[in-house]
Amino acid sequence: MKKIGLFPGSFDPFTKGHEAIVRQALDLFDEVIIGIGVNSSKTYCFQLDQRIRHIESLFTEYPKVRVASYQILTVDFAKEIGANHIIRGLRDSKDLEYERSIAHMNGMLSGIASVFFLTDQAYSAVNATIVREIYRNHGDISHFVTNAELLV
Ligand code: ADP
Repeated sequence: MKKIGLFPGSFDPFTKGHEAIVRQALDLFDEVIIGIGVNSSKTYCFQLDQRIRHIESLFTEYPKVRVASYQILTVDFAKEIGANHIIRGLRDSKDLEYERSIAHMNGMLSGIASVFFLTDQAYSAVNATIVREIYRNHGDISHFVTNAELLV
């Protein structure tokens, strides 16, 4: 059976930390789908099509990686695309606590297991919320985001 992993998130924007998680996941999965969850009641800093184009630009040499967006429950989207695992990243113990509840609830809802990759130490401080704050204040986000020019 083909091993398909779904890496879900808002990716507003997709940082070097996210990128490192996908690169690790590529060793274990036949296909990695980066799923951008869209919540219609939320406003985002970067447009959805911009985020999709940006993420695609990072993995042009990896046919095993695809980018998609969804507006349904993550586990329902995972089933729709035939993913057998959900991929998440862990930066610190706070992430672990939060991710543990989501993973257990997702497991109860669907039987789909989550797998976690530890963030590369170089990126453990990278946080999309702070990257957005830097961007809004005209700071240079290219330290934290590869191909950041595609987002502006
Ligand atoms: P969400 O808003 O659903 O948490 P994010 O896009 O912020 O979505 O994060 C998606 C996943 O990436 C989460 O598992 C999160 O822990 C992980 N992540 C976020 N930042 C980093 C980072 N710097 N390094 C590794 N993983 C990260």
